[in-house]
Amino acid sequence: MILHFIFVIKEEDRSKRQFEFEYVKKMGQFYKKWIKDKFDKDYEVQCDELITTPRNILQRLDTHTLLRDHQQRGNDIYHFYLTHFKPWWTDCTCEGYHAENFGMVFWQRPKEPNDTLFLAEKNCTTVSHELLHELLRISGHKKFIQAVHDIWTKHLFEQLEFEQFGEDFQKTNDKPTFLTMDTSQLSL
Ligand SMILES: [Zn+2]
Repeated sequence: MILHFIFVIKEEDRSKRQFEFEYVKKMGQFYKKWIKDKFDKDYEVQCDELITTPRNILQRLDTHTLLRDHQQRGNDIYHFYLTHFKPWWTDCTCEGYHAENFGMVFWQRPKEPNDTLFLAEKNCTTVSHELLHELLRISGHKKFIQAVHDIWTKHLFEQLEFEQFGEDFQKTNDKPTFLTMDTSQLSL
């Protein structure tokens, strides 16, 4: 099984966002281990950039463009897009979208280019949200949408902490490099 993270980036931003792409590559390896630890599934993780050029309004990039890209690359690969635009429709409570073997999140850009904590708090967390939908779905969990949203609500409104991991992918109480949803309340 292949999980392919695709960092969607505007051509003019490319040189300024290398730190984020380096983070995406580390995050991919982190999630490989996280998925193995939590779901006992082996994914080969790949990371790439998808460089976009300016378009007119009629050709605007949206979720459908990415779904088409996913189909062209191959439906049997789990493609996960980290994008500079929001899904224009979603049933998610975060700015992401999921379908079979398909994920996307709106990837927020930090004000300081090398702000790892911002990337962990704003982006790594929403990636875990969408990954959980798909991993629960393929595990046969009947409430693969609601179960995730119930916990997400607790993270946002009931002071449930995200799980913290360090640069070595191990749990930490120090400043985290990666943050994920708390899976302890899911029956995995
Ligand atoms: Zn959701």
